[in-house]
Amino acid sequence: MKNWLRKNPHVRTIRVAAADINGQARGKRVPARFADKAVEDGTRFPLSVLNLDIWGEDIDDSPLVFESGDADGVLKPTERGFVPMPWLDAPSALLPIWMYREDGRAYEGDPRHALRAVVDRYKALGLTPVVAVELEFFLIDDSGKNLQVPTSPRSGKRRKAAETMSIRALDQFDTFFTDLYDACEEMDIPADTAISEAGLGQFEINLMHGPDALRAADDAWLFKMLVKGLARHHGFAASFMAKPYEDYAGSGLHTHFSVLDQDGNNIFDDGGPKGTDAMRHAVGGCLSAMNDSTLVFAPHGNSYDRMVPGAHAPTGVCWAYENRTAAIRVPSGSHKARRIEHRVAGGDVNPYLMLTAILGSALYGIENKIEPPAPITGNAYALDLPQVPNTWKDAIDAFEGSEVVPHFFSAEMIRNMVLTKRQELRYMEELTPEERVEIYLDTV
Ligand code: GLU
Ligand code: MG
Ligand code: MG
Repeated sequence: MKNWLRKNPHVRTIRVAAADINGQARGKRVPARFADKAVEDGTRFPLSVLNLDIWGEDIDDSPLVFESGDADGVLKPTERGFVPMPWLDAPSALLPIWMYREDGRAYEGDPRHALRAVVDRYKALGLTPVVAVELEFFLIDDSGKNLQVPTSPRSGKRRKAAETMSIRALDQFDTFFTDLYDACEEMDIPADTAISEAGLGQFEINLMHGPDALRAADDAWLFKMLVKGLARHHGFAASFMAKPYEDYAGSGLHTHFSVLDQDGNNIFDDGGPKGTDAMRHAVGGCLSAMNDSTLVFAPHGNSYDRMVPGAHAPTGVCWAYENRTAAIRVPSGSHKARRIEHRVAGGDVNPYLMLTAILGSALYGIENKIEPPAPITGNAYALDLPQVPNTWKDAIDAFEGSEVVPHFFSAEMIRNMVLTKRQELRYMEELTPEERVEIYLDTV
């Protein structure tokens, strides 16, 4: 890591930062000449910083802050090392860090450690999850009273029509996407294809799959930061809000995953179109935990506006082969790539907690051979299915009282999530819809 800085002498400032419970980067700005110290000695800030509510001001009544006397945690660099921050004017780099307790134990309230713990359980069984994420977001002009599509930096015009997979829509933001792909290369984020999505100004970029779930979560976290920062650099906003506009479909953050055994074979692949028992059990685990872990996939008040019928977002707890109205879809295609697409999370999700819940519940299903109900066919919105919680409050209650969630989240993380989300809920209830949008727009 020291070498990286020596090789990049133009870098003037560093951010040392960790992902908090909402996926926000929290940390410090360090002059580059003192960065070696941050690498060697780690950095320190209170454990409670990772549990701040999204507003981060209303901490006076937070039991999480004062209960423990607000002890410091020790933050150490992750294996990722320095990551360039090409959306900033001054040459800068981010040093992602994660939190340990003073006595050297991992801090269970750190979302990255939550995911690491689940990945370790796969490893102990000789298994490796392979993960790819698809990130949807809106490009937004928020300069006026209402949110609207930004004018094209190329043509100066506003898009008029929504066209899923429209090349024209993409090309209107060609300068932005060119910069974005250059930045992904610099940051070593494996950005694959981009498409225009259904909403005006809505796009989706897929990251390549790989056998390192922690890295996939890091990539998604860094990507969200990059897209938001770069859009501001281009004079507009980018938002991963689950549902910025009532009239358009919301933004999801879908996860595709399979699991490799010790020999590198996909344990979901049965050589045919159906998938193995292990795949079905993974689906069974995901479905059995879906209601109770909705809070993770839909962590904000705005998330619940997305989960409505007819917008390709899930509402019923179900699975299906090649069906985008189901919460879990098993895509067709080559049997070697047999995998599960988990479609519940909105763009506003914390990628570490999302993958912890998905991979954790899948493993719970595999270990306990949980049989899912029969796959559905046809339009899931028209069927009589058990529904995921449709309010934030119901989701918090379900998460708190769950018997399944403790199989993959620590008691510390559950408690922190519940207290933080209850505090956010109380706070957000007092705000107008416009004030809420203002908070959510760039943060989530
Ligand atoms: N935008 C949809 C969602 O909210 C997903 C559309 C798609 O299938 O890509 O999840
Ligand atoms: Mg999509
Ligand atoms: Mg998808």
